[in-house]
Amino acid sequence: MDNTWVRYCEQCGEVQALEDFEGARRSCKRSLEHHRARRRKTDQARRSRQGSSGKLGDDSAAAAGGSAGGDNSDTVVEDPEEEQRRKRRRLAMQLKHRQRKQQQAEQQAAAQLAAEQAAALLQAQLQQLQQGEVGMAAAAAAEPLPPQMMLA
Ligand SMILES: [Zn+2]
Repeated sequence: MDNTWVRYCEQCGEVQALEDFEGARRSCKRSLEHHRARRRKTDQARRSRQGSSGKLGDDSAAAAGGSAGGDNSDTVVEDPEEEQRRKRRRLAMQLKHRQRKQQQAEQQAAAQLAAEQAAALLQAQLQQLQQGEVGMAAAAAAEPLPPQMMLA
């Protein structure tokens, strides 16, 4: 090693001096430049192939920008009927939205209630089962004596 920093160039497939590289790039400046030149060429070719259509797009974009300004001035002089219609539509949308939300809330509540009922039922069944076992155990233990006798 002669103390020169080197890096493997992925483009050339060989180790090259670090000074041949641009920043943290993995291919050397020369190959990058080569690559860029080729891309510039193909870009130019593509642009010249599209030619006038590309220019047309630019023009229409500029025209759209101009008409957008026109739209703004239009909204100032608004048709009151259209305004009313829009307001009604907005209200209808809000109402629908609220109804849907309420429906969702009701569905959620119903689902929760069902879940709670199911849980309660399960709890009751479990309790019955436990009481039954306890009762049976108690009955088995106190078989000859009724409860009243034990209390007395
Ligand atoms: Zn290289």
